[in-house]
Amino acid sequence: MSDFDRLAALLFPDVTETPEELLETRFPPRPLPEGAQVTRFAPSPTGFLHLGGVFGALVDERTAHLSKGVCILRIEDTDKKREIENGVPLIVEGLSAFGIRFDEGPLAACAETGAYGPYIQSRRAPLYHVFAKELVRRGSAYPCFCTEEEIAALRAAQEAQGVTPGYWGDYARCRTLAPETVEENLRAGKPWVLRLRSPGKPGERVKFRDVVRGEIEMEANFVDVVLLKSDGIPTYHFAHVVDDTLMRVTQVVRGEEWIASAPIHLQLFWLLGLKPPKYCHTPTIMKEENGSKRKLSKRKDPEAAAGYFSDAGYPADAVVEYLLSVANSLFEDWRRQNPQAPWQAFPFRLNKLSSSGALFDLDKLNSVSGEVVARMSAAQVRDGATAWAEKHDGALFAALAADPSYAEKLFAIDRGGKKPRKDIAKWSDVRAYAEYFYDALWQTREEEELAPGLQKQILDAYLQVFDCADDKDTWFGKIRALCAPLGFSPDVRAYKAAPEQFKGHVGDVSAVIRVALTGRKNTPDLHAIMALLGQARCTARIRDYLRTLEN
Ligand code: GLU
Repeated sequence: MSDFDRLAALLFPDVTETPEELLETRFPPRPLPEGAQVTRFAPSPTGFLHLGGVFGALVDERTAHLSKGVCILRIEDTDKKREIENGVPLIVEGLSAFGIRFDEGPLAACAETGAYGPYIQSRRAPLYHVFAKELVRRGSAYPCFCTEEEIAALRAAQEAQGVTPGYWGDYARCRTLAPETVEENLRAGKPWVLRLRSPGKPGERVKFRDVVRGEIEMEANFVDVVLLKSDGIPTYHFAHVVDDTLMRVTQVVRGEEWIASAPIHLQLFWLLGLKPPKYCHTPTIMKEENGSKRKLSKRKDPEAAAGYFSDAGYPADAVVEYLLSVANSLFEDWRRQNPQAPWQAFPFRLNKLSSSGALFDLDKLNSVSGEVVARMSAAQVRDGATAWAEKHDGALFAALAADPSYAEKLFAIDRGGKKPRKDIAKWSDVRAYAEYFYDALWQTREEEELAPGLQKQILDAYLQVFDCADDKDTWFGKIRALCAPLGFSPDVRAYKAAPEQFKGHVGDVSAVIRVALTGRKNTPDLHAIMALLGQARCTARIRDYLRTLEN
């Protein structure tokens, strides 16, 4: 038995399997069609779903499902301090609200789905130890007994000398401990961490291909990073290598902040004789503030939280479409050409992902969301608005839920057609849009500029003739007929040719009627609005308005 074998047996007496055996027996290649990709979303269960997390999960989900592959949810809970109760179901539910679903992982309350688990890192200790033992056997990892104080002192000394700080090269004291000393320390119960014995030297370079960014060349790793902490729990670096190997992940989609540690990961794969996955480092979602860009921050920016968007009333599909348009410049063209297709039909391609920092842009989100809502049916708008109002606007909910068929009709006005209106970008816009359809909600009124006397004449005359049962032509014919006797032109062009001859034109007359009935200068089709309000309510509103003119 070599010294390394003896050390491996000493450190991991319970481990009987080898990585090779695991990969042959419990984690064999997946029976998937050619070209199918396996991805994973790997959040920590902190209870906070960041918009960047939704973005990453969406990229994972699209990549896997469009290739007929598998999308895994893996929970990275090695940092117990950051964990909260219910963190996992919050992630699963939070993402499923955006239509992002996984095939494997801790998807149900107490059960895991899939044959490549466990999917929660804290349940995987024995698997990490199999790979750790293998590294020790190969002479590529060793136990380090240095205390935190010793490490801090080393760092201070290195800083004073102006050398790269860290546990590396000749500074890595425990690299060369005599086997007897190691044995003695272990027997004495001294705590240890497992460190990589890095084969790298300062100044060496490494190259790898990133699916999004192309070839990346950077300094190779030469630091003996920690692989297992003193409680036997792996660091991110080691867990990534073991988990993505055993889960047969083909594409590692992760934030660009991980590029810096990719050389460590590549070294680990190489030392273990394993093939690394393809890396796809996604851009960080940034925010522009006072002319400079910074990361969208959980602490400072409410819109960093995925939940912000459902609270504000953005339909989940709108947030997804916005993220797809950020991710991929081809999305918007595709959307224009396929206005009715679900976003799932977009041929998303990882290698077309934009690699520059994505800027979060609320105006853009509003515009995308306005388009999404404009494409919905009236019943979908009603249902979305009602569900949102139930949680966020009791009075609006009461109004919409009291008569769903009336609500559907009001949202149907001017819906569809070539140039649909985009008044509603989010459900919180619905109250302002729909309030005048409900006496109990109606609060805001815009002012009509025409002189009150003239307005009164118009409305008095209109009250004599209007009938909610009129079809649109008759209705407008009546409004035109009011014009001449009141000194208005029934024809806009005639008015423009000689404005001095008129008090205004037919548009001004109907504007007065519109303001009296809705309190708005701009509404969807007034004829349809009046038909929905009904004869009695229209008459009452015009009379009420006339009273306000008298005061
Ligand atoms: N838990 C890591 C993170 O949240 C996962 C990174 C990865 O996907 O590998 O950043």
